[in-house]
Amino acid sequence: MEAKTINSSKKEEQPRPPVVVILGHVDHGKTSILDYIRKTKVAEKESGGITQHIGAYQIEIPSPNSQQDKKKITFIDTPGHEAFSAMRSRGAKVADIAVLVVAADDGVKPQTKEAIKHILHLNLPLIVALNKIDKPTALPDKVKKELAENGILVEPLGGQVPLVLTSAKTGLGIDELLEMILLVAEMENLSNDINKPASGVIIESRLDPKKGAVATLLVKEGVLKIKDCLAAESTFGVIKSMENFLGQQIEEAFPATPVLIIGFNEVPPVGEEWQVMPSLEEARQKVMAKAALEKPKREMAEILDINPEQKVFNIILKADVSGSLEAIYETLKSIPQDEVIIRILKAEVGEINENDIKLAEAAKARIYGFRTKAQNLAEKLAERKNIKIKTSPIIYELVQIVRHDASLLLNPQINRQKIGKVKILAIFKTEGKKQIIGGRVLSGQIIRQGLFEIIRQEEKLGEGKILQLQQNKQPVISVGKDKECGLQIESEVLVDKNDILEIFQEEKIKRNL
Ligand code: GDP
Repeated sequence: MEAKTINSSKKEEQPRPPVVVILGHVDHGKTSILDYIRKTKVAEKESGGITQHIGAYQIEIPSPNSQQDKKKITFIDTPGHEAFSAMRSRGAKVADIAVLVVAADDGVKPQTKEAIKHILHLNLPLIVALNKIDKPTALPDKVKKELAENGILVEPLGGQVPLVLTSAKTGLGIDELLEMILLVAEMENLSNDINKPASGVIIESRLDPKKGAVATLLVKEGVLKIKDCLAAESTFGVIKSMENFLGQQIEEAFPATPVLIIGFNEVPPVGEEWQVMPSLEEARQKVMAKAALEKPKREMAEILDINPEQKVFNIILKADVSGSLEAIYETLKSIPQDEVIIRILKAEVGEINENDIKLAEAAKARIYGFRTKAQNLAEKLAERKNIKIKTSPIIYELVQIVRHDASLLLNPQINRQKIGKVKILAIFKTEGKKQIIGGRVLSGQIIRQGLFEIIRQEEKLGEGKILQLQQNKQPVISVGKDKECGLQIESEVLVDKNDILEIFQEEKIKRNL
């Protein structure tokens, strides 16, 4: 591929739209607000009545200062908002402004508090939307106080944080919310140098059976163009097709624009940062260099962390989309790993392929798939190599399967049950660790193949096993109380006349992680 020149010499700052993320407790109305805005502000004729969900969308509304002047806002709109968490955990700052949705009839809840923590941590400008204000049970003043108790002092209480009363049901306050977003954005003075090589963040990604890796990119800087060569953190590619959220093919995308692209070699995980490179070869080298640097570091850290008592359960994880993959990954990592470490060698979106099988063979790993299956050749190879592949369409179930399989490595819990005592009356023969002895059963019973503790003057000296048992010179399986018998035993300590053998049985009980 011919190298493209990227002109980064001329600086050209241009204002850009704000990127907004909507956070808050479940059921407080995040999706309803996003849907209401999408429905009322994305012109029907533009979208042909249908807008596709690609993880973000953009609206255009008149500026609060001038009706002629139109302003854009980009909303991050991902199902379950996993993308935002993934991006947050990777430390990528994707949004410029956060809208904290709090239901006026429910108040500050655990996820509200969590959202506040993240917003403060990222130092994001914040607007509170006090939603469901249409409900007769709404208690806005009470909620404002609760917010204050959690460090968010809203304007009506004399604080700095703007607050808008909204109803996603009636639409009340939504225009005001959008105006507030534009006002806050104006104060932030958001601009970008459009001559810089484009870069940004992956907001959503999946594997399409026909098109290959499909990813939604948010452009943060520069202008992204069709045929640009891209390096994400784990994969690279060249943009073969680029669409906006309306499903229209576009040639270039400016900062704060979400686009759906095809062209990555593999599905990049949500939250990875990407940038345009001068050529495909340079993009490839950048990814390879990073992988080469990071892999040994990670593996060494894992190896050094293991103590000799710990066992390692190697797994390869595959899933249909990156959101699910992240969720499974995080859940598995949260399982206590003091005794068995669940080491995820690879977590990747897509079908289970031959490379996965080869890796599983080399690393003695098992493969787990969520809403994905093994390719034909991979399945055959797995059968030949005896590699175990398990799949499930339910996250919880898949996690349980991994947990169960990893639990097989746990040492079982051993329960000892004492069953009888025998007193040694005579030693007939000693040969190495083996002895032939005679004794009388004091209590319970003794059995062939039974295990025993050797007790001399009430002190335990060692342990051993009964190899043979005889009564009246005939081999028997067990001997009961007050009976005399002959025994062939093997033990670590030689036994003596008058020693007591305490016979026990062991029961092994399977444990679970
Ligand atoms: P999310 O989990 O935060 O995305 O919440 P949803 O948007 O799914 O809303 C949860 C429920 O509250 C749904 O049944 C909505 O119809 C309802 N709801 C959302 N906003 C409002 C509102 O402003 N007023 C009323 N009355 N109901 C609302």
